[in-house]
Amino acid sequence: MSELLARHRAVMPSWLSLYYETPIEITSGSGSRVTDAEGRTYLDFFCGIVTNMLGYDIAEVREAVERQIATGVVHTSTLYLLRGQVELAEKIARLSGIPDAKVFFTNSGTEANETALLLATCARGTDQVLALRNSYHGRSYGTVAVTGNRGWKNSSLSPLNVHYLHGTDQAAPAFRGMSDAEYIDACVADLRDVLVTATAPDVACMIAEPIQGVGGFAMAPEGLLAAYKEVLDEHGILFIADEVQTGWGRTGSSFFGIGNHGVTPDVMTFAKGLGNGFAVGGVVARGDLMDGLTAKGVATFGGNPVSMAAANATLDYVLDHDLQGNAARRGALIMEGLRPLTDLSSVADVRGKGLMFAIEMVDPVSGAPAPALAGAVLEGARERGLLVGQGGVHNNVLRMAPPLTLNEEDAREGRDILIDTVTAVDTKVRSA
Ligand code: PMP
Repeated sequence: MSELLARHRAVMPSWLSLYYETPIEITSGSGSRVTDAEGRTYLDFFCGIVTNMLGYDIAEVREAVERQIATGVVHTSTLYLLRGQVELAEKIARLSGIPDAKVFFTNSGTEANETALLLATCARGTDQVLALRNSYHGRSYGTVAVTGNRGWKNSSLSPLNVHYLHGTDQAAPAFRGMSDAEYIDACVADLRDVLVTATAPDVACMIAEPIQGVGGFAMAPEGLLAAYKEVLDEHGILFIADEVQTGWGRTGSSFFGIGNHGVTPDVMTFAKGLGNGFAVGGVVARGDLMDGLTAKGVATFGGNPVSMAAANATLDYVLDHDLQGNAARRGALIMEGLRPLTDLSSVADVRGKGLMFAIEMVDPVSGAPAPALAGAVLEGARERGLLVGQGGVHNNVLRMAPPLTLNEEDAREGRDILIDTVTAVDTKVRSA
């Protein structure tokens, strides 16, 4: 065990999980690559859990941050006017597609979702909310309450009254053999049933990830969230889209992930990639909802000048370089190469949208989820110089979210490493 790992284990919580049998200490980065303390360089297809949206050491972001630091103001009270906040809020409000939108900045996705839940429950005067099974929304009391993914749920105590809906569990025994249309009908019938028991007017909101990130890049079939939204609208129930992983063009086909579902939400939350590594999150909501809170509010660091400089520069970069288009093109190239992996008996599924794609590993004989095989791919890819993520409700899914700036050569290299690694793991398990 390295000296740093021993010290980490001694003073940091045991549940603070680290990737890899020999965890990596990243010491520098440039473009789509990072270098570790041993001097090994990796192509990064996970980008700090989807945070380094543009990759590493991007001149435009670095210079914007340096210019802000050079003013001598790393932070000042968020009770004063901050130009960077207003400018960023204007851009996000315009991009959101939400009518009369207003924006509030936080430091993280957890805080953003917490704020969104507060807006919705206060506006509707009830603590009943709807969430999807297998979801992940953060690690605070309220966001854990709407997290359906058991592995990330450390408390069943809840400040909210949560009803879980179906959406990404089409493979579950109850739905096996159903077409998309039949599954959607069954889900909507279940929602109507929940609303009867919950006495519909007393439900504040539904919160959903357009593609479940931690949940293994699982996506509800086309049409389901729109069908849910129709039912919610009948009752005035608000819809919160958690765009923490899916925002800013990553899915290629839509600037925000929820656009892929043809739904205009009442509230959207964002974080991660927007600051390209700097801590920034936030909520964009209909103005009447945002203004509806009656108590005063401020976030001491949320919307601070340095994060705003980073976020403004990052968002401008995404728009100026059409990174949504790049995500669509590179994603298509990678998916085309990965799709044949489904012929292997240990690969249950290859799925994705734009630069957000996943490979699901199962036992080649029983078809049961195989987290150990996903772990073997994670390690094998690292040995070949590629960093990826792992997730899914059974932890058997490899998740990839490369920088939106990914060039064609790096896209091919990462794709080929994945093909090699998954094929090697499949061959090994079948010959064991
Ligand atoms: N929502 C989603 C969809 C996420 O993936 C995450 C983080 N993985 C969060 C919320 C929480 O964000 P943070 O870690 O910045 O609090």
